[in-house]
Amino acid sequence: MASFPTHARAVIIGGGIVGCSTAYHLAKLGWKEVVLLERNKLTSGSTWHAAGLVGQLRTSANITQLLKNSVELYRKLEAETGLSTGWKMNGGLRLACNPERLTEIKRQATTAHSFGLAMEVLTPSEAQKLWPPMRVDDVVGAAFLPTDGQANPADITQALAKGARAGGVTIIEDCRVTAITTKQGRVTGVVTAQGAITADVVVNCAGQWAREVGKLCGVNVALQSVQHQYLVTEPIDGVPRNLPTLRDPDRLIYGKEEVGGLVVGGYEPNPIAWALKGIPEGFHFSLLDSDWDHFEPMMGRLLGRIPALETAGIKQLINGPESFTPDGNFILGEAPELKNFYVGAGFNAFGIASGGGAGKALAEWVAAGESPMDLWPVDIRRFGSVHQDPQWVLTRTLEAYAHHYSMAWPHEELESARPVRVSPLYERLKAQGACFGSKLGWERPNWFAPDGVEPKDIYSYERQNWFDHVGAEHQAVRERVGVFDQTSFAKFMMIGRDAELAMSWICANDVAKAPGRLIYTQMLNRQGGIECDVTVTRLTEESYYIITGTGFATHDFSWIERAIPQGLDARLIDVTSAFAVLSVMGPRSRDTLSAASGADSSNAAFPFGSWQTVMIAGTPVRALRVTYVGELGWELHFPVECAGAVYDAVMAAGQPHGIVNTGYRAIESLRLEKGYRAWGSDIGPDHTPLEAGLGWAVKLKQNTPFLGREALAKQALGPLKKRLAGFSVENPAIVLLGRETIFRDGKQVGWLTSAGWGYTVSRNIGYGYVRNPEGVPTDWLKSGRYELEVAAERVPAQIHLDALYDPSMSRIKA
Ligand SMILES: Cc1cc2nc3c(=O)[nH]c(=O)nc-3n(C[C@H](O)[C@H](O)[C@H](O)COP(=O)(O)OP(=O)(O)OC[C@H]3O[C@@H](n4cnc5c(N)ncnc54)[C@H](O)[C@@H]3O)c2cc1C
Repeated sequence: MASFPTHARAVIIGGGIVGCSTAYHLAKLGWKEVVLLERNKLTSGSTWHAAGLVGQLRTSANITQLLKNSVELYRKLEAETGLSTGWKMNGGLRLACNPERLTEIKRQATTAHSFGLAMEVLTPSEAQKLWPPMRVDDVVGAAFLPTDGQANPADITQALAKGARAGGVTIIEDCRVTAITTKQGRVTGVVTAQGAITADVVVNCAGQWAREVGKLCGVNVALQSVQHQYLVTEPIDGVPRNLPTLRDPDRLIYGKEEVGGLVVGGYEPNPIAWALKGIPEGFHFSLLDSDWDHFEPMMGRLLGRIPALETAGIKQLINGPESFTPDGNFILGEAPELKNFYVGAGFNAFGIASGGGAGKALAEWVAAGESPMDLWPVDIRRFGSVHQDPQWVLTRTLEAYAHHYSMAWPHEELESARPVRVSPLYERLKAQGACFGSKLGWERPNWFAPDGVEPKDIYSYERQNWFDHVGAEHQAVRERVGVFDQTSFAKFMMIGRDAELAMSWICANDVAKAPGRLIYTQMLNRQGGIECDVTVTRLTEESYYIITGTGFATHDFSWIERAIPQGLDARLIDVTSAFAVLSVMGPRSRDTLSAASGADSSNAAFPFGSWQTVMIAGTPVRALRVTYVGELGWELHFPVECAGAVYDAVMAAGQPHGIVNTGYRAIESLRLEKGYRAWGSDIGPDHTPLEAGLGWAVKLKQNTPFLGREALAKQALGPLKKRLAGFSVENPAIVLLGRETIFRDGKQVGWLTSAGWGYTVSRNIGYGYVRNPEGVPTDWLKSGRYELEVAAERVPAQIHLDALYDPSMSRIKA
């Protein structure tokens, strides 16, 4: 072997498919001095024993794109490297055995169309022709994705490694990373038994070992090893070589052809975690003992679908551990705890399907220092404090695993490992019928069940059981006043002599305002994409109070902290747990606040966009005049220990005005009517404020530099290629959920990013970007005839460039 390297531009830890793909793509990006370290041999972790199904469709457009990138790569890899990969594009078939599942797969077909995949809905007999060995007497429909396929995981990985080597990557096997060095919050290298390597960047692609590897440098990788089994048969008569992959979620099973026989497995509802005390030494090219007892119910379901299994010769029941995560999505990106330390792990048994695209995205992320596209569903910054607890991760991960093939109901909430983070009002609200959802470990009231109604979601693809109750909350906010417990908001303080300088650089809107003002602003990346969407409150000359969504706590903190220009006296502090928040919203909110506080909250004394300290129940309350629901209102922020007293006082003061408890589902329908954008769906790093219709919140006309300004200024010179628009569908029998395809004059132009029912306007409402390479001027947008594809059928829709509900800003601001 050549001498052991002492320095690398990037060290990749792990020689599975993800590490090799990342190395391959870094080499393609022209990176030199890339070293991949594998503690045993390439593929010896989870990769060698994967079943090799490669499906593409996910619920996010960009994650689907990432999987499409895998397929594109696998199609050409053999020709490029001369190594066979076993890639076969036989398509993927998904069955439905009941009407709800049929609706689900029809909606999936529409999602596929939105994301540029040709998925067809088939009859049972058409499906049977594609998969001759199966029985279809209980099948009510199917969907077929012709570009799905299968591959040989070890061969693909070796081909990627060969491609990486050809691009100059050094791959060293039998070389375990035992320590990771850091300095001042930045990674500086790795240590192995063979020696230390200094490195600018370190990438943790250590599969189910990634949690342990992360621990070496204080980075939390929230994953858990779980046993996963599949059966390999001898050749079976009537199994053609071009058999598509099969998923039969109602039976929790999957299958594919392999050398004339079948590989069949599934996702048990009672998964078994593995390596609770750590992965044993020497576990490479290793399997766990076949667990026939555990597989037996799965076998019963398999036999019901594929009768030939009854007599087929069994080669092996493979039991391999694989890393799973609490939300079923993998983990990608730069760790919030440590600069230049990246993670690509936790692949939930679709690491072969994702490996090509995930490695590409990770390499691009490393090379640019910024995510190549909005990868929020898999971003490592989606996790928070609960995810640092292995026990919490274990519990939630097992639930997510068991959910893999169960119906993915709209508005579904996972139930395990709850409650953890609760507002001080939790018990009070629970006693008043709150039905809670969970976000980043927080319990949040979704809706309130009236007396005699059980506060429990009953899921369906039709209107769900809470529909009318949320309607009543919605109406109360529009006509009287509602109170929302939003204590889970993430809250930060930016403090220091240069706080204004730092915030002015990071925020796209003008935040250099006098103390007492509050400003709605985006924070942009260098491409002008929206990284954060926040409310900024100027407290004093040297301090700002920043409020963002519950789920974005880690992401936004990390983004803002890293964007503070060097040398400035400005520090960011997380104060989430210090303050409870009650939002009091609706036309009677002024009466309520005045009565509760005794303060003058008239428009003259307390204008929109300002904040004041008012006293309620012996508590200094920071009252912010702001709204996310399109009505007059205030957010009240105050010390958590005073929450009960403040809440009781507000409810008593609001009682003559008809105040009610309201939840997050009412917020959603209220904000849809008013056209407020939601980060993570309507807006995000892929969209600029100009495209999102938020140009009014950007200080482009001022001569102040800010992050993302140049990209935005450039974009402002030419025609926009996409614009966020609202859509409505009158028919109440249609249910819009998001991801529905948008057609303009019969041509596909985009998909809905969010959607729901607007109770005041009595319509379905959706938002989505309309795309056109020639530009999207207002006249052109308005002149089109629009349809939405919903569950594989088109329905007429109306476009709206203004909010559907507009009590006129004068009412909100008066
Ligand atoms: C039974 C089973 C069936 C599956 N079927 C499918 C399927 O059909 N389709 C699909 O897409 N996916 C499937 N998967 C999932 C797939 O196998 C994994 O998602 C994928 O292999 C993960 O690749 P990886 O590179 O992240 O991890 P790994 O392949 O585990 O690679 C990680 C590597 O890191 C190395 N390493 C760990 N610690 C260190 C260290 N300190 N220093 C140096 N090296 C280190 C390990 O030795 C290992 O080789 C299946 C998994 C199982 C278990």
